[in-house]
Amino acid sequence: MRATKAIVYLGNLRRNIQAARNKAGTHRKICFPVKADAYGHGAVPLSRTALDAGVEYLAVAIVSEGADLRSAGINAPILLFAQSLPEELPDIVSLGLIPLVSDGVFIEEAERAAERAKKKLTMHLKVNTGMGRLGCRPEDAVALATKIASSKWLTLEGTATHLSVSDSLDPGDLAYTKEQLSRFREVVDSIKKAGVNPGIVHAANSGGVVFHEESYFDMIRPGIFLYGYSPGDQPGNQRANPSAKWLSAEPLMEFCTAVVSIKKAKKGEAI
Ligand SMILES: *Cc1c(COP(=O)(O)O)cnc(C)c1O
Repeated sequence: MRATKAIVYLGNLRRNIQAARNKAGTHRKICFPVKADAYGHGAVPLSRTALDAGVEYLAVAIVSEGADLRSAGINAPILLFAQSLPEELPDIVSLGLIPLVSDGVFIEEAERAAERAKKKLTMHLKVNTGMGRLGCRPEDAVALATKIASSKWLTLEGTATHLSVSDSLDPGDLAYTKEQLSRFREVVDSIKKAGVNPGIVHAANSGGVVFHEESYFDMIRPGIFLYGYSPGDQPGNQRANPSAKWLSAEPLMEFCTAVVSIKKAKKGEAI
């Protein structure tokens, strides 16, 4: 076998999950993002370990990643983060993936796909509060939530947003995250006031988990933190607050190899 290896310590994943759980409280759910082959660590073994350690949700970016988990026999709820194409809806329905939806056209196509398959589709509404990527406009959220909740073929199981600069301690970035969170709280309240249950409310990526307790809501979605890298370790953050001791994680991956040759070189010699 080749001497160069990437070793993944599954025990460290369990410890990082426990650290996140202790920080957020046991009454909150954890969603473990395993997109991009679990950030390069191997989606199937990491998903199995995380579920065994009590994580309630997994998340992928694209449909084929969800299909790989289902083929490996993983039956846990899987959120689908990225916007899919309408032609992927039959697979989303049959695999039982839970898409984050941002617009009325996609919701209608999803409803038709669910009806055709005679199988209800569960979804979360994504609200754009400042990331500017996916998500509906805050002022459209009530109408979309109502549209999902009143459909015979759809279930509104959650309401989510994504934080764009929550991993930074720059004062402007801290203020921006607070602004995103207050917009999100307003949206969730307006959905409730309209008589619709927003379901599981979630916003916190790793930066949210480490730096913004008010981002926890009902579920946290830490990715990079659970792989062992704290946003608090970023050089910019240490400059901003050198004495800070933040919640920390242990890296899962270690590279090791064997020395194959030792040689002497003169200063200035080309190597
Ligand atoms: C990737 C992703 C996360 C996790 O982000 P980290 O910065 O790795 O914690 C959370 N939510 C969404 C929507 C994502 O795409």
